[in-house]
Amino acid sequence: MYLVFDIGGTNMRIAVSSDGKTLTATKTILTPKDFNQGIQHLKQAADELSQGQKIQAIAGGVAVVFDGQRQTLIKSAHLPNWVGKPLLVELKRMFDCPIFLQNEAALEGLGEAVLGSGKDKKLVVLITVGTGVGGVKIVNGRFDDNLLGFEPGHQIIVPDGEECTCGGKGHLEAYVGGSYLEKRYGQKAKNIKDPQIWDRIAKYLAIGLYNSSVHWSPEVIILGGSVVKSIPLESVRNYLQEFSTIFPQMPELKLVTLGDEAGLIGALEYLKQQM
Ligand SMILES: [Zn+2]
Repeated sequence: MYLVFDIGGTNMRIAVSSDGKTLTATKTILTPKDFNQGIQHLKQAADELSQGQKIQAIAGGVAVVFDGQRQTLIKSAHLPNWVGKPLLVELKRMFDCPIFLQNEAALEGLGEAVLGSGKDKKLVVLITVGTGVGGVKIVNGRFDDNLLGFEPGHQIIVPDGEECTCGGKGHLEAYVGGSYLEKRYGQKAKNIKDPQIWDRIAKYLAIGLYNSSVHWSPEVIILGGSVVKSIPLESVRNYLQEFSTIFPQMPELKLVTLGDEAGLIGALEYLKQQM
């Protein structure tokens, strides 16, 4: 039995797989703000889903920046109480098996690149716009080399701009991320109806995607996350094309196809690559 998980700023998804290829049973719970409570809930859900069968290996994503060895959580805008905690050590103590950790958006991107909207593409970028903004570059079905992961949500798009929960200013996340939109407009993103507001958000997102395109030169950019469902994709495409003066065309923009399970499917794929 294999265990995979996907811990986001809001929800935590946990699943087991008996064949290492497909998800056998899945559970979603709210992500506890407290780290100890978080790993206890993870253990409880794992016990419940595996029905007492031994877990042979684990792969999981968390919405944080990991240290270079992917052991300790070193920074998180949305799970501050998890920062500095030895997640890998704690999980090893609980499960006593090989464990592979990654950034949450990275695993979602891997899932989409291999089995979702990026299938058959060599150079895939995924940008997820949910509570926060994350992303990853996947090359030939694997994470592109990196030291500390990828954080396109924290690229600066406005100098001295809005404050981001990471401590920076003018970051993409502070203009399109769900928690910022809620703060600014006093309601959840899905309840914002003003087309002018959405046009502005589309423009900010397009600036971020333009920057990712000129740095990463992907064939396709896949957009995921709860807020993306409300952003007018056609406007994003038009702005992106309008900004494009150096490349003859910008990468294709697609939406995720694996839905909420992308991170879990990506974790299974990652596990397969590591074993
Ligand atoms: Zn930031």
